[in-house]
Amino acid sequence: MPHRTPLATALPDAVSYERYLARVERAVAPLGFDREHSFTAVSVCRDELTQPLLGAIARRWDQPFNLGGLGAMPSLGRTGWRAALSHVPDDAERGRLMVFGFPHIGIGPDGEVGENLRRHQHLPTATCGAMVALLASLGQPAEPLPEGLDDREAERLRAVIEGHANGLPEDLLELTRLAAAAVDAEIWSELDALEAYRDMDIVVMCGIQIHLPDEVDHIAPTAGAFQGADGQRVPIEL
Ligand SMILES: [Zn+2]
Repeated sequence: MPHRTPLATALPDAVSYERYLARVERAVAPLGFDREHSFTAVSVCRDELTQPLLGAIARRWDQPFNLGGLGAMPSLGRTGWRAALSHVPDDAERGRLMVFGFPHIGIGPDGEVGENLRRHQHLPTATCGAMVALLASLGQPAEPLPEGLDDREAERLRAVIEGHANGLPEDLLELTRLAAAAVDAEIWSELDALEAYRDMDIVVMCGIQIHLPDEVDHIAPTAGAFQGADGQRVPIEL
C-alpha cells in the first residue's frame, strides 16, 4: 500500500477517525461531556470527502452544527456563532460545547500527498482543493471576477492563515499544519469574544483529517483544550 509510507512519515500521529473520537470521548468524559448534554459544532472543509466524519461525530454526540467553509475555516460569522451557542442544551447547570476543527489533506493511490482519486473519475484531484489553490496563488495577482461574484471564503482563508505566519509555506503539508493552528485560534477567538465560557464548559479539538485510498479517514491531532467557568484554557492530551 504506497500510501502507508507518506502517512507514517508525514503524519505519524494519525489514527483512524473512530479511534480518534474514542480517545476524545474518554478524555472529555471526566469533564462531564456525555452524549446527553453535550453539543458539538464541527468545522470541516466543504469537500464531500470530509462528510463521513460528521456521521461518526453524530453517532457519538448527536447531530453537529456546521461551522466550516473552505479549508475548514469557520465561515459562519458572528451571527452563525451566536446561533450555534444558542443551541447548546440548557437543562444542566452549565452547557457543554465541543468544537472540532479539521483541515484536510489527501494521499492518493500512488502515495502522492495532496490528492485523492474520487468516485467515477480517472485521475486524482487536489485535496484540499482550497489549500492547493492558495499555494498556487502565492505571488500571483488576484483573479478578476465579474461584478456580483466573489471569492470571499478563499480570501478569508488566506488572510486568517497568513495572520498566523510570517509568509505562507510553499509545501502543502506545512500549509495544512498552519491551517490547523489557524482554525484552532479562530475558533477560540470567536468563543472568547462572545465569552461563551460564562454559560458553558467548552472543549475545542483540532487536527488534520486525512483521506486515504481504500481505507477509512484518519485524524492527526494537533490541539485540544478545555475551558471551564474560570475562563482558563487547560490542554487536553489524547
Ligand atoms: Zn478542502
